[in-house]
Amino acid sequence: MKYNIPRGTFDILPQDSYKWQFVMDSFRKIASRFGYEEISTPIFETAELFERSSGESSDVVQKEMYRFTDRKERIFALRPEGTAPVVRSYVENHMDVLSSRTKLYYIGPMFRYDRPQAGRYRQFYQYGIEFIGSDNPYYDAEVIAIEMLWLQELGLKNLRLEINSVGCPTCAADYDAALREFFRPALQDLCPDCVKRFDLKPRRLLDCKVASCKPFRVGAPSQLDYLDAPCKEHFAKVCESLTAMDISYIINPAIVRGLDYYTNTAFEIIFEGLGAQYSLAGGGRYNGLIEQIGGKSIPAIGFAGGFERLLLALEKEQIELGKRICPDAYLICLGEKARLAIYTYLNHLRQKGLYIEYDPDKSSLKAQFKAADSSGASYAIIVGDSELEAKTVNLKNLVTGEQVSLPLDGGEAVYAILHQDH
Ligand code: AMP
Repeated sequence: MKYNIPRGTFDILPQDSYKWQFVMDSFRKIASRFGYEEISTPIFETAELFERSSGESSDVVQKEMYRFTDRKERIFALRPEGTAPVVRSYVENHMDVLSSRTKLYYIGPMFRYDRPQAGRYRQFYQYGIEFIGSDNPYYDAEVIAIEMLWLQELGLKNLRLEINSVGCPTCAADYDAALREFFRPALQDLCPDCVKRFDLKPRRLLDCKVASCKPFRVGAPSQLDYLDAPCKEHFAKVCESLTAMDISYIINPAIVRGLDYYTNTAFEIIFEGLGAQYSLAGGGRYNGLIEQIGGKSIPAIGFAGGFERLLLALEKEQIELGKRICPDAYLICLGEKARLAIYTYLNHLRQKGLYIEYDPDKSSLKAQFKAADSSGASYAIIVGDSELEAKTVNLKNLVTGEQVSLPLDGGEAVYAILHQDH
């Protein structure tokens, strides 16, 4: 029986895993530099957590969620996104009592039943940060600044930041009414999903991917014209903070975000090198979510980005992402007598922290040198019966071909040279 990987998923193979480690480590570093600490939540949660927070009308809940019933008939979902689980944990662990400001980041797989294509998978890896505890527009700008700074430090150019304000529930209601007015004459020509959206969440009409729906949104009212005074002021302050931080942006009223919990600031970061709408990361403010999930009314803002798209962008720009780890040395053993003494010697070198490859199934000099070369080791340590008798080893630099004879001690002589090379 032959098994295949599920559609829309991928293996991270050994020849690529160092790149993943590189970007994940790098994200951990930038998040720590801004005072964020890592949180890991389970990959499945009660389905209702996502249904309530993302919204019944969102594509994530309607079409993309992996829902399942466990043996006790409880309904769970593989997490489609990271914010709701982090907020669930924040509330459940009373983090608001510990501090009035909570800075959390996460890294992990998310699951969405979507049509797979380049940069879109059914299991994908996200990084994200959540700042909980203040409504100050400074934090909207700071959260955006973290992502922009990180992407720029990784070496990406051609980034476009697009921002919008989706308002608060009060002004969003006025806006929804205006949108219904606008779309009502076209109702019979819209796709069945849009007809549902018209009643539930008219702003999703702006986001529909169906080609025949697109012409109908030309000239649609903009949320920005329906912001109430506090929301208008908040948005203006976010914009001026970004400018003061030297971050350029474009205001795009079409950014509505796919999930219901956003309030005020919504943003996306687009990489222009991979097609027009290549969103690397997105996020926004979610001032109502904590209360909706059973906590107090505490404002928050965050974002999430996808590692797959980030790696594609970095590769497109030919940015080096660390290196595959190679052995410090490959140990070549000649002659039967040498074997056991070699095990002891190998042990000494490894106890000193060196990465030494050795293969007891290869006996010819040629096969062992070939293996040494393909391992990527910089050195070969060669020990045969005559070296053993003389209590020496030969250390060969595989790059220059230079070879020296060193004492077969407790590994100190070889360590001194290899360590220098580190
Ligand atoms: P979203 O919350 O849907 O805006 O997702 C935030 C980021 O996660 C996007 O900008 C992508 O980089 C990434 N992402 C979302 N969905 C997928 C997916 N199905 N496959 C790969 N990456 C994704």
